[in-house]
Amino acid sequence: MSGDEVFTIQARRCKRCGRLLTSQEAVERGYGCQCAMKAKREEEAQKPIPGQRTIFDYLEEES
Ligand SMILES: [Zn+2]
Repeated sequence: MSGDEVFTIQARRCKRCGRLLTSQEAVERGYGCQCAMKAKREEEAQKPIPGQRTIFDYLEEES
């Protein structure tokens, strides 16, 4: 051992709040634990609910 060890795990910051990610899992996700949950929830909220009709469906019918 030479003593000048190289850190293999880079310090990463959460894409959402900018906090330092300390766990390998969080680094791989790109988000901290809390932000990963929030980001996932927001992503799901943006998806159209299956079976729910949008305003565009009604507009298409009228033409
Ligand atoms: Zn975060």
